[in-house]
Amino acid sequence: MALAASFGYQGPVSERARCPAHEKAELLSAVCGAEDRYFGLGGSYNYSACSECGAWVLDPRPPDDVIEAACRAYYPPSLLRHLTARAERGRPVGISGRIRARGAARQLRRLGAKFSGEKQLLDVGSGLGAFLRGMRDLTGVRVRGVDSTPETRRFAAEVHNLDVDVGELEAQQYADASFDFVSAWHLIEHVRDPATTLAEIHRITKPGGWVIIETPTLGTIAELFRSRWVQLQPPAHLHHFRPGTLLALMHRAGFEVLSVRRPWLPGEFAGSLAMRLGLRGFVSKLLSPERRAGWVGVFALTLLADLPLTFFFALTRSTGLIRVYARRPELSLLEPPHPRVPTNTHAGKPGHPRVLPAATAPDGSLVSSPESPRHEQLSEL
Ligand SMILES: [Zn+2]
Repeated sequence: MALAASFGYQGPVSERARCPAHEKAELLSAVCGAEDRYFGLGGSYNYSACSECGAWVLDPRPPDDVIEAACRAYYPPSLLRHLTARAERGRPVGISGRIRARGAARQLRRLGAKFSGEKQLLDVGSGLGAFLRGMRDLTGVRVRGVDSTPETRRFAAEVHNLDVDVGELEAQQYADASFDFVSAWHLIEHVRDPATTLAEIHRITKPGGWVIIETPTLGTIAELFRSRWVQLQPPAHLHHFRPGTLLALMHRAGFEVLSVRRPWLPGEFAGSLAMRLGLRGFVSKLLSPERRAGWVGVFALTLLADLPLTFFFALTRSTGLIRVYARRPELSLLEPPHPRVPTNTHAGKPGHPRVLPAATAPDGSLVSSPESPRHEQLSEL
């Protein structure tokens, strides 16, 4: 598009950007000149909005090596050394992952999941492994991870004693119905084709098995700060879904969505404000051993406004996160025949619940209707 040429990313392009749910939909300019503030790659990027559902997609999309370089930069060697040394001194590492595990275990139990040592969890995009360790400790299930780099596998093995496979999920060729639980925290916004990844997650999940997907989504702060929204993170983030877009893709992949949450995201406002003020290298400056006291101070001060504000957004379900709990239905014969994702310009906006496609079995009977009692929580979106 013309704006891409005049404002944004100028490098080589790997393929035409498109909405993961609406391949043929027109893309409209949404965010121009979003700078790389995380990964040290430089450059600025554009996001376009799907004219049908409003999802933002990185447009144009850079080649894979640029995207992979950005993803590797989430875990710089200095950070891994720092955390390894901390673990060797007996200090806790990965507290946020353990908090995430506690919440996931509680919610899965509430939805009816049963844990035992016979069951296995796969975390796709397992990163440093704290979530897996937390789930192993809390529930006793066997755990496994898959992540893109050998560095994170080594860290997860040495610090948390975890088994992690390296590479893309699709390349692992796990057997059909291998896992009782599959989680993907902040993965789906990175993958080239979310529909393919969700289909692969569905294939490797046992019938009746449980799936958790969490990803940044477009809430009030995203709409307010746009190119300075703390979760935007070009060029690593290829897609930012509207809630309705993600839920429709999950239905299309064959999942029964049971619970949708918009978790409290402390720091979303403070981080976006720090971006607006011009902070580059946000993550490394705040989290690395070389962090600068001045920026940490600015961030801490803005947290005073951030905490009540982001809590309010959590109450009104308009935070920058969406967390979905879903199941692969028990009866695979009744999985939905890839219904079309509906169009709805209000998709995902607070107070405008998306009407999801009702999947039908080959005999025409209803399989999974969002209007059924099990989907009550969807109406809270
Ligand atoms: Zn779309």
